[in-house]
Parts: sequence; C-alpha cells; structure tokens
Amino acid sequence: MTTILARYRAVLDAIAAAELKAGRPAGSVTLVAVSKTFGAEAIRPLLEAGHRVFGENRVQEALAKWPALKRDYPGTELHLVGPLQSNKAKEAARLFDVIETLDREKLARVLAALPPPRPRLLIEVNTGAEPQKAGILPEETASLLATAKGLGLAVEGLMGIPPLTEDPSPHFARLAGLGRAFALPKLSMGMSGDFAAAIAAGATHVRVGAAIFGERH
Ligand SMILES: *Cc1c(COP(=O)(O)O)cnc(C)c1O
Repeated sequence: MTTILARYRAVLDAIAAAELKAGRPAGSVTLVAVSKTFGAEAIRPLLEAGHRVFGENRVQEALAKWPALKRDYPGTELHLVGPLQSNKAKEAARLFDVIETLDREKLARVLAALPPPRPRLLIEVNTGAEPQKAGILPEETASLLATAKGLGLAVEGLMGIPPLTEDPSPHFARLAGLGRAFALPKLSMGMSGDFAAAIAAGATHVRVGAAIFGERH
C-alpha cells in the first residue's frame, strides 16, 4: 500500500508542477483517482490520506465497493467516467456525485425525471470522432446542452478522451475551445499518460488510474 501512496503523492507533485508551468493557480486542478478494477483495500489508503475524489467506469462495480467507503469517509465525491445505460441511471444517480458521460438526449431525459438531488453533469465529447467511442461529436454540443438545460439539468462542463494513437494536445485544445464557447467552466481531460498536457490546455479535472494504482489486469 505504501507504493500506492507514494505513486499518489508523485502524481500530486506532477500536477502541481504542471499547474506552475502553465501559469495556473496552485490547486486549480482536481485529481480524480480512477479506482476501477481495484478493491477497497487499495482505495482506503488514499481515503486515509485525505483524498476524496474518485472515479469509476462501471455502475455495478462501483455499487459493490463505494456505498461502504462513502459511509466511512464523509465528503467523498464519486465520478462516473464510463458510459451510462439508461436503465442504470437511477442507481447511478444515487451513488455518483458527478456523471461525466452524458452523451445523449434520452439519458438527459431519464436523469431529469429522477428526484433531486441529482448528480452534477459533464457532457462527453468524442473530439476524435472515433466510431467505437462514446460521446457526442463536437458539433452536437450546442444541441445536447440546450436539451439538458431545457430539462433543468445542471451541466457544468465537458469530458473527453483523445484517440490513443494521436497527439492528445489538439484534442485537449478542441475540448477547451468548446468549453469556452459554451461558458462551461469544468474540463475533465487527461489520464495517466497525458495529464500534464491536459493541464497545459486548461483541464480542471484529470482522471488518473494506473499512475496511482498500478497497471490493471
Ligand atoms: C480508466 C480510465 C481513466 C484512467 O486511465 P489511466 O490510463 O489508468 O490513468 C480515465 N478516464 C476514463 C474514462 C477511464 O475509463
């Protein structure tokens, strides 16, 4: 477990260095520690160290570990970073504080029909227009945002995952440009391999898994 804590601290240091280099205020970037595939025993040391923002990509997996952890560590904020099926929206809305993957009008309607408090939302944008990837196309942002707003949903920002095989920086810049165009303050972008570049481009949230918890099997 000391390795997880040591890697966690190294990631925090790297985030601080990237903030400084980008001329951004210290602490302006939130680390979402993505704990998918790892059990509570790997997560607890971070909670003990005071970390409170985590990400999971599957609703069922998160339901198996997070209700107990959230009870034990008040103030924990859980982000859904994987796709959400409409038939799991109700369960997801109860467990997750932020859903980063709003990607269609139907899901917006299902979420809007749930009783408050509802999770905060980010729209996932597929900046690489990759057919196998979730998220709306950049040019669909205005329309989904308008639908969500019309339904009374609070969309706070955008989330993106650049294509694996491309330089991520143009994708980060594209997402940041959309965020500015629609006055959406939050930008979730950057993972273990590219979070420094995402911070340079304006990320407010970086989603880091392997660099903290180790490789997934
Ligand atoms: C797994 C995952 C991450 C974390 O990826 P790492 O490369 O392990 O840092 C970030 N975002 C999403 C959407 C993920 O599914």
